[in-house]
Amino acid sequence: MAIGVDIGATTIKAALVGLRGDLLASFREDSPRTTSSLRDFVHSVRKRATVPVLGIGIGCKGVIDAATTRVNRLPGDLNFLEGYVLRELAGVDGLPLCADNDARTALVGEVLWGAARGRRNVVLLTLGTGVGAAALVDGVIVRGASGAACHLGHVTLDIRGGLCICGNYGCLETCFSSRAIESAYFAHIHRASPTRLSLDDAGGVPSTEAIFQAATEGDPSARRVLDLAFESLTAALVSFLHVFDPELLILGGNIAAAGPQLLAPLHEEVARRTSVLLGRKVPIVLQNTGGYGGVAGAAGLVFLQQRLLTI
Ligand SMILES: [Zn+2]
Repeated sequence: MAIGVDIGATTIKAALVGLRGDLLASFREDSPRTTSSLRDFVHSVRKRATVPVLGIGIGCKGVIDAATTRVNRLPGDLNFLEGYVLRELAGVDGLPLCADNDARTALVGEVLWGAARGRRNVVLLTLGTGVGAAALVDGVIVRGASGAACHLGHVTLDIRGGLCICGNYGCLETCFSSRAIESAYFAHIHRASPTRLSLDDAGGVPSTEAIFQAATEGDPSARRVLDLAFESLTAALVSFLHVFDPELLILGGNIAAAGPQLLAPLHEEVARRTSVLLGRKVPIVLQNTGGYGGVAGAAGLVFLQQRLLTI
């Protein structure tokens, strides 16, 4: 078994993972906001592991140097981790500790045990608070010179678009993400458009899941917000297929999980717009390994490092 940990913007998850990708026990809590809460979480998971453990794998947002496990750049809520070496920060009992970007660990999970098994060219996007991405190109997970490669959520889609968390303007993430969808819907409420949903008592904006639901119930504002967001996502996916020519495109993250029925029309449009160059319909599938995909893949880093498994 290995311990897999996935540090997300809102939740941190962990599991004891077997060589077949099976989860023996899983744990989750709100994302840490201090280094000591991260350390405590990993230590508590280690303590609760009643079987021998080969190592710890961590998937984390941002630019992670897989060789040293240093968090090179991490804008946003988890910024406090920037500059820390995860091996030093969260290592336990001298166990080997591996780390990589969370979308990459999700892709590792899919390649080892999920939808991408046996494939050599795969693109994975995680659609959540932001947009994460990873690519397997000719059998190799692309990392780039500094570990920042394949931040596809930060490809410029709208040249006149708004400021992104990364410092660029008009990134995919500013057009399609929970953050983008919720803030666009907030603007509709604020401007007195007809909306089925309203702010909660604390002034909180309806969740992306609620906006999806409202759209299916005929809320015109929700429909418009989602139509524009999906138009952006479609354009981005077309570009990514043209760049990577993958066998398979995998969509994960809580938006993909919340709205599979809304993803269906997108398949046809992406296929239509890529048919000339690619000459085939590239399957777009949902992440197989579900909400714990990143966790299983993070443990997969340990198995890969110890050559118990190979891609
Ligand atoms: Zn960006």
